[in-house]
Amino acid sequence: MSAIPMGKVVPNKDGKPCSICQEPIAREMIGIHMDGTIIWWDEGHNARPINDGRCCKFCNDNVVIQQRILMISKDKNYDYNK
Ligand SMILES: [Zn+2]
Repeated sequence: MSAIPMGKVVPNKDGKPCSICQEPIAREMIGIHMDGTIIWWDEGHNARPINDGRCCKFCNDNVVIQQRILMISKDKNYDYNK
């Protein structure tokens, strides 16, 4: 079985700027077609609650997700069943 590098991130100097760090958003490999063509995603990630734009994978992993966890853990009355 061949290893498919899912989640592989390739720098894209023409990518849209990240709304947090302003670096161009890299392309992420999200899948592979039956014919072997790689499917890329270059729209980045939802940057909320930091802002309403899109952000790069680094900012998503290191800023956005951290902030979301912080917000949820601070809200002791948060109803997870809603
Ligand atoms: Zn960024």
